[in-house]
Amino acid sequence: MKAAIFTGPGRITLDEKPVPDPGPGQALVRLSGCGVCGTDVHIFHGDLTEGITPPVVLGHEIAGLVERVGPGVDNVRVGDNVAVDPLIACGRCEDCHAGRPNLCRRPTTVGYAVDGGFAQYACVPATHLYKLKPSVPPKGGILVETLACVLHGYDRLGFQAGCSAMILGAGTVGLLWNQLLGRSPRTLLIQSEPVAFRRKLAGELGADVVIDPGGEDVAARVGELAPDGIDYIVDASGNPDALAQAIPLVKRHGTFMIFGVCPKQAKISINPHDIYQAEAKIIASKMPPLTLGRSVELIEAGLIDYERIVTTTLSLESLPEAVGLFEQARDRHVKMMIDPWE
Ligand SMILES: [Zn+2]
Ligand SMILES: [Zn+2]
Repeated sequence: MKAAIFTGPGRITLDEKPVPDPGPGQALVRLSGCGVCGTDVHIFHGDLTEGITPPVVLGHEIAGLVERVGPGVDNVRVGDNVAVDPLIACGRCEDCHAGRPNLCRRPTTVGYAVDGGFAQYACVPATHLYKLKPSVPPKGGILVETLACVLHGYDRLGFQAGCSAMILGAGTVGLLWNQLLGRSPRTLLIQSEPVAFRRKLAGELGADVVIDPGGEDVAARVGELAPDGIDYIVDASGNPDALAQAIPLVKRHGTFMIFGVCPKQAKISINPHDIYQAEAKIIASKMPPLTLGRSVELIEAGLIDYERIVTTTLSLESLPEAVGLFEQARDRHVKMMIDPWE
């Protein structure tokens, strides 16, 4: 099979590998698509090394059809349309025991520590497969994991009807937040995003107001729209400056959620006195425990406009190029999907 192998920072080579044999409890998936995630780009550049063991096939937003199953597998059958939960938690650490596999201390994540989705086939534990209706196309399947992350964030946010919300950023994650908050009974949904193409998409999908932080004074604009501030602000940008600028815009007793992944060394300054006086909350959400099933339900029900979020399909050969496009062509692409058979 063809596979794009990450051998170290800046190096992805297209190679032939034997199709893996599913062992006990495993399933071999013939991949129909794999999303290119911001974390793949960080790994490629060497900014993210924790839990990555090159040489390895990256890619954790995986959709495909079950091709073969190993001994003892009874939850999926050959031909099933599936999405993969890439997080293989250790099951033994304190966080796993406390029901927080997303915070597992020793995970062996598919596409990080074991071969993932930038290949024609992947072998994964069958327990980590979620069945999708045959009618769900690869563009829907590859968003199951990311949407599950956003659903976990949504649960933690505890959004209450009749409140206002703001999303920082309108990449894949920001647009999935848009789809959830845009369908919630809110008084106002603002989305800020520097790229015009993405702002347009945010407005068409569900935001009431879109703001260009490159050309507008965000604080002044939010002040006009919501003089008392915003009840719930979610950062989906991972941009420390955007966070620093938006935290003071949280309404009294409101919530600010750190959802996007900021660079490891980033620091911002906050005003603890104001946060105290407002009794505001700053919380975070990391990855999805227990939300993949609901993510599948939403996608199957047609409530997530994956056709508009997955803007681009590329071949396996184009993966190194996709990494460049990810950063430089934000005005043309949102989610890029690799089709390994193209
Ligand atoms: Zn991802
Ligand atoms: Zn663990």
